Amino acid sequence: MRTSWRIFRIFGIEIRIDSSWIFIFGLITWALAGHYFPSQYPRWPHWQYWLVGTATSLLLFSSVLAHELTHSLVARSKGEEVRSITLFLFGGVAEIAEEPKTPAKEFSIALVGPISSLIIAGIFFVLWYGIRGISEPIAALARYLSIINLFLALFNMVPGFPLDGGRVLRAIAWKLTGDMRRATRIASVSGQVVAFLLIFFGVWQILSGFFFNGLWIALIGWFIHSAAVRGYRQVLVKEMLKDVRAKDLMDTTFDTIDGSLSVQELMEEYILKKKERAFLVTEAGKLAGIVCLEDVKAVPSEKRTVTTVREIMTPRDKLEAVSPEEDGSKVLGKLASGKIHQVPVIEGGEVKGVVCRADILDFLHLRSELGV
Ligand SMILES: [Zn+2]
Repeated sequence: MRTSWRIFRIFGIEIRIDSSWIFIFGLITWALAGHYFPSQYPRWPHWQYWLVGTATSLLLFSSVLAHELTHSLVARSKGEEVRSITLFLFGGVAEIAEEPKTPAKEFSIALVGPISSLIIAGIFFVLWYGIRGISEPIAALARYLSIINLFLALFNMVPGFPLDGGRVLRAIAWKLTGDMRRATRIASVSGQVVAFLLIFFGVWQILSGFFFNGLWIALIGWFIHSAAVRGYRQVLVKEMLKDVRAKDLMDTTFDTIDGSLSVQELMEEYILKKKERAFLVTEAGKLAGIVCLEDVKAVPSEKRTVTTVREIMTPRDKLEAVSPEEDGSKVLGKLASGKIHQVPVIEGGEVKGVVCRADILDFLHLRSELGV
């Protein structure tokens, strides 16, 4: 599982940094302080390269954060729920709970990102213009940030999903065709084309001797490609789950087991004998959590005799209950966002069933096999 840390909260949105961000932050600071500034301004003292380099790097990531924050705030003003913003290897990502419901919403949520980068570029340009005769280090910082934010605005407007330009393209195609799925397909294919061009360009750079530049561009291409494919798949899945309710997905044959049972016992006595895969776990007669086949599978076989069910279950306070009438795609969303394997289906304070991730996957698999 990936590690990320919560650093602060702003406008009620959680700001997190992923562990991969530390790497890119270090790399950019090093590239600025060790190479870019010394080549542009050869007369600075050594410490000044590092001071300006670190400050520029921090402001660069603040710019990325501001870009994501405007997406989030516009999304929230349109009634979408925004959970968090995470800074990671390739920039930032705002976690908006659901896909926008209309093309107009999608259009404005996407477009505001590049516009904010453009405004930030303008602010740094004005700063550079005003201070260039007064302080060379601050002017250098402002000049770099102005250029990089302009580049971010332009790059994000490339019309390939999942870039902002791809989302704008999807919104336009969605408006014209009235078909969200077709529009996503168009934006996804164009995202994949953009990704392949980046990968080819990256490989060409590597072969021309610009190893790190080339590798970096190719990696971004690969990231865009996988996000473009995933974006379309998510829409398909959502469409397949459109008229499905939690009660259609839930497993109603579940046993109640004790938390002190070992994983080995659970496998032998319950899973293999009774062919069930979701269990309510009780401690002193009270519901303590739920354990699913997926939790068991995650335990290495040599540890199964010494691990108890209590250690691997999703505890009660982490469970997100749903009602039997809840939308299938919402149930899947809960499973995905909470990084949990199961949700209890509760009606009138009573557990009616359990939906495991595998239940949804089975359901989707069956539907696609039958061509429904
Ligand atoms: Zn954006």
